Amino acid sequence: MNHLKLAGLKEGARTIIHVGNIRIGRDMVVIAGPCSVESEQQTLTIAHAVLKAGAGLLRGGAFKPRTSPYSFQGLGLKGLKILAKAREETGLPVVTEVLDTRDVGWVSEYADVLQVGARNMQNFSLLKEIGKVGKPVMLKRGMFATYAEWLNCAEYILDAGNPDVILCERGIRTFEPWTRNTLDLSAIPAMKELSHLPIFVDPTHGTGRVELIQPMSMAAVAAGADGLMVEVHHDPEHAMSDGPQALLPEQFETLMVEISRLREALGGTIHDDDAQLEGEGGVEDFGEKKAREYAW
Ligand code: PEP
Ligand code: MN
Repeated sequence: MNHLKLAGLKEGARTIIHVGNIRIGRDMVVIAGPCSVESEQQTLTIAHAVLKAGAGLLRGGAFKPRTSPYSFQGLGLKGLKILAKAREETGLPVVTEVLDTRDVGWVSEYADVLQVGARNMQNFSLLKEIGKVGKPVMLKRGMFATYAEWLNCAEYILDAGNPDVILCERGIRTFEPWTRNTLDLSAIPAMKELSHLPIFVDPTHGTGRVELIQPMSMAAVAAGADGLMVEVHHDPEHAMSDGPQALLPEQFETLMVEISRLREALGGTIHDDDAQLEGEGGVEDFGEKKAREYAW
């Protein structure tokens, strides 16, 4: 893949992205929250629960890419305001999806990390627009995308001037209908080999089955993922989207304890321990500067 001038791996330098005091690409970072922002009360309840369990960032969709035009499409601006309130109350930076080129500018005023969803991975106009803003981007893998196609989409964002791209494996379509998607964990070591960009895994959309989220999260961490994105809801039965695949707060708490134990066994730590100890700057930033120079 030598046509990847910016996203391709060079000289072993890896991109580290600072969001608040979280260092994506260096710490183990867990992003958690509801599929959709439904109401202030719902989002604040979940935000406090995931904070307590140790999540580093809050997720929640204000613009939802739904299969049917009759399904809940998201609260839009109202949803973004709710996310901003949740950030204010919990201190958690916010990850939210932007669906439309026309919305990139103003959505990025609310988001700490902009999400490009699987269905929009190859929306090249959107990628170019997102490349112009100064917010990190989480680029989800399209459900039919090869590694080369995915990395070329990251290339679009980097080429447009935004160096802070996080890749997220979220499962691909295969012939297996029992799971919602087939989570391709090979993508983790593959992306480490092909790119300097951080690689996350979304076991929620990747499996669509609550009982598979914990084992696939453990497998992703063991395989070297830089982080996870997990959907959590305190009342999944009444969720307006993806209720059946949401973890309850207590299940998420257990998952976090298990990930922490696994990280210890593997010789790492969960993000905020050492992020807070070391803070910004210092020796570790050298890697980021090298990667940034290269990325540009
Ligand atoms: C999401 O994370 O909210 C989402 C819609 O996921 P995906 O784009 O991976 O389907
Ligand atoms: Mn969802």
